[in-house]
Amino acid sequence: MDARSYKDIPSPGRILLGPGPSMVAPRVLRALALPVLGHLDPIFLSVMDDIQQLLRYTFQTKNEFTIPISGTGSAGMEAALSNFIEAGDKVLIGVNGYFGERLAEMAGRYRAQVSRIERPWGEVFDIEEIRTALKKDKFKFLALVHGETSTGALLTGVAEIAQAAHENGALLILDTVATLGGAPVEVDAWEADVVFSGSQKCLSCPPGLAPLTMGERARAVLRARKTPPGNWYLDLGMVEKYWGEERTYHHTAPTNMNVALREALRAVAEEGLEARFSRHQETAELLWQGLQEMDIGLLMPEENRMTMLCAALIPPGVDDLAVRTSLRENYNIEIAGGFGPLAGKIWRIGLMGFSSRRENVLNLLSSFREILKRG
Ligand SMILES: *Cc1c(COP(=O)(O)O)cnc(C)c1O
Repeated sequence: MDARSYKDIPSPGRILLGPGPSMVAPRVLRALALPVLGHLDPIFLSVMDDIQQLLRYTFQTKNEFTIPISGTGSAGMEAALSNFIEAGDKVLIGVNGYFGERLAEMAGRYRAQVSRIERPWGEVFDIEEIRTALKKDKFKFLALVHGETSTGALLTGVAEIAQAAHENGALLILDTVATLGGAPVEVDAWEADVVFSGSQKCLSCPPGLAPLTMGERARAVLRARKTPPGNWYLDLGMVEKYWGEERTYHHTAPTNMNVALREALRAVAEEGLEARFSRHQETAELLWQGLQEMDIGLLMPEENRMTMLCAALIPPGVDDLAVRTSLRENYNIEIAGGFGPLAGKIWRIGLMGFSSRRENVLNLLSSFREILKRG
């Protein structure tokens, strides 16, 4: 073993304009690098209290159960599904992109009977088809993706959807991994029952934590379970004993990640949600306009377009991978391609959290102009 063959990792300071992870502010990186705290250290216990308060602000909720799940956004998804499924339960899932597919796949693995409301990638659901689907059976929950990162589609009318779910005796589970901290996620006003997110998108923390909140309606459903959840690590009843009053060990909390999340959330609160949403809107508009000036079309119509993730249509004759490689190698910028039915058809450009800045948009647009020799 010649340890000298392992060099330092290059650290070019990439400009991250993909679907996540987003760039992380220096103050958050400094927090991440603080000496490790024990997971039951009184200092860390107060970090946990702060995180719960700051997450309630960010989710716009008074829900007592509002914590970061250990793991990335998918762990939040897995926690939301596994805790609310007992084998044979009927569930309804909206699938109009990759993350909707993932919800359906995961729910199936916990042995739910999965019904789907389907739309082609890049389309959105309308409230009437959701209402109709909800009436077809007695579903335990309806699960939907708020911002579908594979297409850039934003779900609108969530309050109405939640109401329709409740009228039919179903909970609403909502994936806000891409949107939390970048666009309004009004958990209480919408009456969404279980809402989860991820740390590395619009919250601009490194990947590794998944904020999750649930309300009273959901907690009652959880209490009525006849069997324990099929996932031990993500058992919310057990995790709650560590995050709640009792503070009993369940698994070792990733303490540095939580300290970093506290700092990222403190930055969200300092900026204020309204200002943060406006910033995401303004940089998105600058990007949309710049792309359109280069004759690059956008997949989603404006009313259902996410601000933090833009699906740009790759112009005919342009080599998708060559452009993305050149952006990375010559301009130090990361964007992403499409996948599934949109592979080779779109670029996915993220303006999430700390990445959502005017200078990044101007940089990307001028880089595109040079590579594509447009404008
Ligand atoms: C990124 C993302 C996920 C998955 O999160 P990971 O952190 O990659 O596990 C789930 N849903 C949506 C909408 C996402 O954008």
